[in-house]
Amino acid sequence: MSIFSALAARLHHPNPPYDAEIWKNASHGQGVLTTLPETSRPRLWALAHDFLRTRAVNPVDDLALDDYQRLKLGLLIALPVLELDLGWYRGLDEVVVYPSGFVPMQTWQDEFGVVHTERRPLSGEAWEQGLLIVSWQDVEAGGPLDGHNVVLHECAHWLDMQSGAANGRPPLHPEMSPEEWTEVFTHAYDKFVHRPHHYRSLDPYAAEAPAEFFAVACESFFETPHALNLDFPRVYAQISALLRQDPRQRIFPDGHQPWA
Ligand SMILES: [Zn+2]
Repeated sequence: MSIFSALAARLHHPNPPYDAEIWKNASHGQGVLTTLPETSRPRLWALAHDFLRTRAVNPVDDLALDDYQRLKLGLLIALPVLELDLGWYRGLDEVVVYPSGFVPMQTWQDEFGVVHTERRPLSGEAWEQGLLIVSWQDVEAGGPLDGHNVVLHECAHWLDMQSGAANGRPPLHPEMSPEEWTEVFTHAYDKFVHRPHHYRSLDPYAAEAPAEFFAVACESFFETPHALNLDFPRVYAQISALLRQDPRQRIFPDGHQPWA
């Protein structure tokens, strides 16, 4: 068996044992994966393979994804639920991957009840009907630890939708207080929408809606955790309690913040 077919066999194994070499190749360029401690990698690896085995990943428009790229996607999708489980992606059956930004036809109703149809370019989208859509170009662009990561953003919408609607209020653990969650996020969102360009931890897009605030905060939680914790410590604490992770320990354990 050549080295390549041995590798292919390991990649195609439905539940392959953790392999540091394959991890290294699959996670290449993705800061949130390369900074993950060694001790967490086998669990994320297992979740990613579980996800890829039970959900369809469909590249479209002549895009082809190799096994490393599929694994990269699986690892990123599994990251938010690293300390939870894939049950948090209940209803998510298919990941559609476009080569670059896609422009779907969207129908929406404004506050006056008028229905509009238009095309808006998107880098990712989470559909309640069981679809997660991302552009591969944006997946790759999400690599640097700069607070932007389309996969983490769309996955946050999925977690949020587990409560029935994307409204910035995902289902909480029994030990968490729904009142506290609502108070913390309402306060932070109100503060943010008044000065969306003032805060360095969150993209101004977070001002669009409470659901977007939560999704953008999740991107920052993983990519620029110290910055989010400085701007909105209580938001950081709530997301940390929800996901049972504290990425501040993960990235720059000496407290050094290269973006400061
Ligand atoms: Zn969004």
